[in-house]
Amino acid sequence: MFILRGVLTVATLLPECAPMRGLKRRNEYCGIAGFVSTFDVSQILYFSLRALQHRGQESAGIATYYADELLLFKGMGLVHEVFNREILNFLKGNVGIGHVRYSTTGGSKEENAQPIRIYTSKHKIAVAHNGEIVNVDELRSFLSNLGSAFVTKSDSEAIARLLAYEISRHDVVEGLKNTMRRLKGSFSLAVLIDDRLFAIRDPLGIRPLALGKIDGGYGVASESIAFHSIGGEFVRDVKPGEIVEITKDGFYTHHIFEKKHKAHCMFEYVYFARADSIIDGQCVYEVRRRIGRILAREHPVDADFVIPVPDSGRAHALGFSEESGIPYAEGLMKNRYVERTFILPSQESRVMEINMKLSPVKSVISGKRIVLVDDSIVRGNTMRKIVRMLKDAGAKEVHVRIGSPPIIAPCYLGIDMKTRDQFIASGRSVEEIARIIGADSLGYISIDGLVEAIGLPYEDICLGCLTGKYPVPIKGEKIRFQSDLEDF
Ligand code: SF4
Repeated sequence: MFILRGVLTVATLLPECAPMRGLKRRNEYCGIAGFVSTFDVSQILYFSLRALQHRGQESAGIATYYADELLLFKGMGLVHEVFNREILNFLKGNVGIGHVRYSTTGGSKEENAQPIRIYTSKHKIAVAHNGEIVNVDELRSFLSNLGSAFVTKSDSEAIARLLAYEISRHDVVEGLKNTMRRLKGSFSLAVLIDDRLFAIRDPLGIRPLALGKIDGGYGVASESIAFHSIGGEFVRDVKPGEIVEITKDGFYTHHIFEKKHKAHCMFEYVYFARADSIIDGQCVYEVRRRIGRILAREHPVDADFVIPVPDSGRAHALGFSEESGIPYAEGLMKNRYVERTFILPSQESRVMEINMKLSPVKSVISGKRIVLVDDSIVRGNTMRKIVRMLKDAGAKEVHVRIGSPPIIAPCYLGIDMKTRDQFIASGRSVEEIARIIGADSLGYISIDGLVEAIGLPYEDICLGCLTGKYPVPIKGEKIRFQSDLEDF
């Protein structure tokens, strides 16, 4: 399991990745962190990555700067499986970055673990990336023409190589600005350039990125909860388009690329972020409760109990119960030691895992009319299985209420929803979907209702997968769709 990579070698423009073939997927959902302190940072990186584990469960990595070298360790597995005390002791240094990676079929390979490390003749660079670059093909051919030999198909490697190219021609800050100008898509980055730590967020602010204070220093993390987990405190979000340098004494903004509108991903609020996180001024838990209340107003129903799909539907269900006056109950118990179904790599394992993951509380369900609340439906297999489980447990009626509008279009900006075929809502009416999942009725929150619940302006929220209209131009959608299908 543990593979100690060549941490003390110096090579020009050689990333710390083994060659790989046949990988079609690019970097997907991830969590990132970076800290600088008067103390060694490997331990706080470890605990912050554990707090961000929900953002990626297939690989983890930490890079630190020490004695003029970038030390790096990464491997497959959960954070606590990849690292141990000996490795953390090896990762000396008071500045470093870390990464947890979510991957999909075909992409679950050690070669794609991050941070990505590149040595140039002038600098040692490590990059941790959350997001997805839509002009990666253009960047790769630009860099390949200059002699870059890519060893992965990851867009994160393209970012690291572009950065290496730009800072070899300019000073560090100018190089970062030029890199940002060339990247299109979603990118929240923690970057080490020698002993300097930078946090960068794309101008649309698609993925979250938070700044915080810790004992003896400061840091950056995908979500504010990472700071709480290490005894620190959340200070503020990295602004969309901002390049921030983080030192042990505070933050320094080098530049902000301002856009008229933002495009914060609605799915972070609906499902992906931890409920106790604060993203762009909004507490995720409160957003989910508001979603539940609005859902109850938009799709009222007579029932005996409101029950959540644990854990993702809990806050939504609570809001539904509060608004409707229907009592909230825990009708499904979750086995906490099974991973989230959405991120398991194959369809069969996803379906199998549902039985292991959830079991019904018959005393709550039997003979009752149930409102079952969840955050979203993507493929519908999980929901169909749960509705069947409730009916088998004696539910008289099962009314499904969903905290996101129907997902009908792919995401090109960092979530693994790439093919229209996989969406149960694509080309089907709500009644048809209700029939497929076996529900007595089905109601999705409206787009206006979702926007109201998130509490940000309509034009500052990405709704691409709900509307098919994306905040950045997506070239050759058909080609990308087909290419991504090969890995499905
Ligand atoms: S398309 Fe959907 S999942 Fe992707 S960034 Fe936009 S809102 Fe989020």
